[in-house]
Amino acid sequence: MRKPSINEARMSLSKQSESPFLQGTNLTAVGDYNRSVVLDTIRKAGQISRVEVSHLTGLTSQTVTNMVRKLIDSGLVQEEGTVTVGRGKPRTAIRLNPDGRYAVGIHLEPAKTTVILINLAGHIIDRDLPNLPDDSAQAIAALASTVSLLLGRNGIPGKRMGGIGIAIPGPVDARRGTVLDPPNLSGWRNVRLAHDLELSTGLPVFMEKDVTAACHGQTWAGRGEETGQDFLFMYMGLGIAFGTVRHGHVYQGRTGNVGEMGHIVVDTSGPACWCGQRGCVAVTCDPRSLVKQAEKEGLFPAPTHVQDPRAFNDSADLPFLDEAFKSLCQRAHGGDEVCRDLLLESAGRIGRAVTILTDLWDMDTVVFGGPYWHLLKDIYLNRVAQVLRRRSVLRQVHNFKVLSTTLGGDIAAIGAASAILDHDLTPGPAPGMSGRDRSAI
Ligand SMILES: [Zn+2]
Repeated sequence: MRKPSINEARMSLSKQSESPFLQGTNLTAVGDYNRSVVLDTIRKAGQISRVEVSHLTGLTSQTVTNMVRKLIDSGLVQEEGTVTVGRGKPRTAIRLNPDGRYAVGIHLEPAKTTVILINLAGHIIDRDLPNLPDDSAQAIAALASTVSLLLGRNGIPGKRMGGIGIAIPGPVDARRGTVLDPPNLSGWRNVRLAHDLELSTGLPVFMEKDVTAACHGQTWAGRGEETGQDFLFMYMGLGIAFGTVRHGHVYQGRTGNVGEMGHIVVDTSGPACWCGQRGCVAVTCDPRSLVKQAEKEGLFPAPTHVQDPRAFNDSADLPFLDEAFKSLCQRAHGGDEVCRDLLLESAGRIGRAVTILTDLWDMDTVVFGGPYWHLLKDIYLNRVAQVLRRRSVLRQVHNFKVLSTTLGGDIAAIGAASAILDHDLTPGPAPGMSGRDRSAI
């Protein structure tokens, strides 16, 4: 039987635990599963004793001792110091060995490409920003060279490499690892990116939509410390999308394309959208729409090198758009009231979209991030929270937390890499449950 690719295996994953700590099983012949459960428990706890692992997983102390010994032998876990629980005696603490495994994360954005190397703790060890050629075959060769460069200059042995994760604007065919026809990336139509990069590097490659990758980054590197186990993630890039994390697990959707929110109407008197409605998120909130609006109000002179100054539909216009949007945000922060009002109004519209999403999902925590978020957060954060608290149907049931990710602009690259570590190291459903076959990965 054909071995499923890493993309196929991940798309068939079905994690349904209500607790962030998964339960082990004391049946025989389930060593790999229990090993993953123990490892996942250690990772989430940060530092923990064997007794606590046994308590949290339901595994016998003998099973835990055996699994921890195997994990130490394989370099994934190390003993370090002691922990004391309640009035008990101090116990030897175990924790992840950050150098036990590495992964590469690639974020392919319309305006730039980021390649990072992270360790098991989710820390960035090294990064590179390659200039990719327009031709996708040449671009894949350049990506393979960059990966090789990062591994070489950091002395990472092949046996400690988990693989490569790629974050890319949707829509994606996540099962086949194929880039379909993303609106903001020209030259990447129907490209078998995961397959071709796997052939070039000899490493497993996993590809997913950028917002889903950002959710992985937030759950893995953020460990739910600020966000809890259930939250919405708002991705503020050249496009705007949302992701959902439930019980600490990222929801990918049926085909890996969850989060398309461009046609939520947030301003009924707004400009016409190609979908037939007026005032959708796609025509009132993203950087392209805001720059067009600023031009209309005379805040920017019409650019001379762009044929249609209000178009920005060509990839050649992206550097100009990027520069114009940054300038708009800087002027707003510098005290230009017209620019500030324009962003505040946009924040109000995003607040309305977020209200619809939190009400639909019954979520009380929203985390913002993505490539353009650092330019917006000072103006957006309070305004979105105000709108949410005023308009949500659920405002009498619970409070809302609106947060800014602490992972910065690299969050999607971190997430793509951590999806590899997550796939490699955390358990799927227990043996006998529906879901993936770990031996096939
Ligand atoms: Zn629309």
